[in-house]
Amino acid sequence: MPSAEFFKQLKQTLPTDVTLVAVSKTKPKEDISELYALGQRDFGENKVQELVKKQVQLPKDIRWHAIGHLQRNKVKYIVPFVHLIHAVDSLRLLKEIDKQASKLNRVVDYLFQIHIAQEDTKFGLSKEELIETLTQEETSQFKNTRICGLMGMATNTDNEVQVKKEFYDLKALFEGVKKEFFAEMDYFKELSMGMSGDYEFAIEEGSTMLRIGSKLFGKR
Ligand SMILES: *Cc1c(COP(=O)(O)O)cnc(C)c1O
Repeated sequence: MPSAEFFKQLKQTLPTDVTLVAVSKTKPKEDISELYALGQRDFGENKVQELVKKQVQLPKDIRWHAIGHLQRNKVKYIVPFVHLIHAVDSLRLLKEIDKQASKLNRVVDYLFQIHIAQEDTKFGLSKEELIETLTQEETSQFKNTRICGLMGMATNTDNEVQVKKEFYDLKALFEGVKKEFFAEMDYFKELSMGMSGDYEFAIEEGSTMLRIGSKLFGKR
């Protein structure tokens, strides 16, 4: 059962320019409906099959965020309705999203996932790989995708200094890339960082999108 109390508290304290993405993975659709009834519209899922299933069953004005690692062969299932893809981590994946989106005459919004944590189990591009990707001419040929910013996951640690530094560095990269590549593009504005355990630091360091699961919905 979702915590209505935490939800209301969080919404009251959030700066107005920070979007809360309620991460509902593994949770039943009834849980989503409860938060929906309280006004929540942005929900995030990390598995394509689950995302598609819930999208069919739940109100059509929900904005669905694909937050997890995405396989190219599954892209076609979410492209018809997805609001934002948070975890693009290769040009090949982006190419596939663009291809599927062009078939539907859609423009799909996405973020590049940047590897900021010390664990090497987490997906994402390094800073160098991001710059390299953005410099390749190919990216500008994609007409059916639109880059809206960056996403990252901090190291899962109690070391606050480290988590803050990782968020700080991601924000700096975001600003640098915006200036260099997207200065005129007002849609390049999202910095998706902050989860249940570290969202307060993420807000301090300039997050515009929190992805919160367990604190809202309870343990998985
Ligand atoms: C599960 C998940 C979250 C939410 O994690 P919590 O710790 O439950 O808040 C955020 N981002 C991604 C990519 C996830 O897979």
